[in-house]
Amino acid sequence: MSHVFPRVFDRTLPTAVRAEGAWIEDAEGNRYLDGAGGAVVVGVGHGDPSLIAAAERQLHATQYVHGTMFTTEAIETYADEVAAVLPLDDARIYPVSGGSEAVETAIKMARAFHLARGQGGRHTVIARRGSYHGNTLGALDASGKEPLRKPYTPWLGRFLHAPPAYEYRCENPSHPHDCGVWHAAELERMIRSYGPETIAAFIAEPVGGATLAAAVPSEDYWPAVVEVCRRHGVLVIADEVMTGFGRTGLWFGVDHWSVRPDIVTAGKGTTSGYVPFGFAATTGEIYDAIASKGFVHGFTWSHNALGGAVALATLRRLREDGLLDRSRDLGNDLKKRLTDELAEVPVVGDVRGLGMLLGIELVRDVGTKEPFPRGQKVTERVVGHAREHGLLLYSSTGHANGADGDLLIMGPPFVLTPDDADALVERTVAAVRSVA
Ligand code: PMP
Repeated sequence: MSHVFPRVFDRTLPTAVRAEGAWIEDAEGNRYLDGAGGAVVVGVGHGDPSLIAAAERQLHATQYVHGTMFTTEAIETYADEVAAVLPLDDARIYPVSGGSEAVETAIKMARAFHLARGQGGRHTVIARRGSYHGNTLGALDASGKEPLRKPYTPWLGRFLHAPPAYEYRCENPSHPHDCGVWHAAELERMIRSYGPETIAAFIAEPVGGATLAAAVPSEDYWPAVVEVCRRHGVLVIADEVMTGFGRTGLWFGVDHWSVRPDIVTAGKGTTSGYVPFGFAATTGEIYDAIASKGFVHGFTWSHNALGGAVALATLRRLREDGLLDRSRDLGNDLKKRLTDELAEVPVVGDVRGLGMLLGIELVRDVGTKEPFPRGQKVTERVVGHAREHGLLLYSSTGHANGADGDLLIMGPPFVLTPDDADALVERTVAAVRSVA
């Protein structure tokens, strides 16, 4: 009997004892290829000596100092170096412990900005259906993932949801034509119907991640929705918690469309998962407006030096060792191989992604895109087969209609070797075939 309140109830978890590169080993000596970097977290790979050394150096210097009493060299240097790669002018970062906290901080920043400018009526956040922004109540209210919201419905409902940028099941009647134009018009209709003077921010994942499994928007989507937001004084929050730090082959997801948001959130890949860390960042101009009136916010572990030190080592590793290009090239190659090898498998509706963020959509009928009934637990069977054969996949269910829908998510470390990549493709294909 364990005294841990676990994440899963239906099976006993193996005990992880060591990890290196793209592999994790359990106490029984079983080895697992980390095909999803956990939950699309691990970019530079497990066991990286430069990250471990950075953590050790920081712990020898200072351990805990409070964010209202001290700054640290780790946080200052990290902020300087990350500002140079963020898609924000004169960036200011607010470090936190993870993605949900980053999102909470971002929406409060948006609110604080409007308050500082005397526009206190702007409090509503527009997010999207088919999104994921975190499990704390504010971030969950932004999240458009029905199965996660359902038990907590009485506590939710302050935020609005626009259509998802989801090309496989696009709601635009003239899809694939003018999807960006259609989405921009829908967003504008929503802003106008509630009144622009009530809307604080629009939050979206550059590439749909945890709910829609690497759903890449149409080329014209991002520029079009950003233009609408700018015209109505609505701040644009790019939630880069999953897509940031090279995951899609560039520093940030929005870089693919040369978009400059007002606020960026990050988590997961900031430290490759070595220590809990993330941040919300904004422009110098928005920061100046907020700072003139103050920001009512804070966490005990915000501005944490250990996180800053490991995030700095991660940033340097990504920047200096060509890992962004590697994510792009390896991701392209994996997507092509998976597309080819799964082409004839009758349950595969779509293989998609950008860089090392990849998704597979499983459907009952490829022609009509009808999902499997949830009771068949298709995703769970595929993920279980993969696990039994030493491959870890991430997944999402229920996206198609709030209950049904089967998605596999891959997000391996960028240091995958050619042999690892072969194993990833072979084992994924075998697992998918096992339910076909
Ligand atoms: N935003 C996005 C885009 C995410 O993918 C996630 C995690 N999947 C979160 C926020 C929440 O991050 P965390 O689990 O670190 O709180």
